[in-house]
Amino acid sequence: MAKCPLCGKPLDWGELIEQMIGEKGSEMRELLSDRERFLSAFRGFTFKCPHCGEEFYGRNLPEKEAEKVFELLNEFNGSIDWENGKVRLRLNSLLALDTMLEKWDEKVKGKR
Ligand SMILES: [Zn+2]
Repeated sequence: MAKCPLCGKPLDWGELIEQMIGEKGSEMRELLSDRERFLSAFRGFTFKCPHCGEEFYGRNLPEKEAEKVFELLNEFNGSIDWENGKVRLRLNSLLALDTMLEKWDEKVKGKR
């Protein structure tokens, strides 16, 4: 799970994406339609940790999770409330579930 590189506290992906929406506004819709553009914007984005208030770049966060977040936001219709700049999906729960299923899958395949 994503952690603040400075204080080490866990970060909520929904909130991180909301920081991007707040800064990028409608440009974020375009970014979310193009994986490469989204990831490059993500890497260079300055996030602010809600716990310690320090700023850090997106490239300090796990990119594999950012890719999954991109997929999840595209997979579900209405995943973002654009009017209020809010993420409707519980991204952290979905990521945790995804990781669990991957591990389960490996376990099952390993038994065959
Ligand atoms: Zn922090």
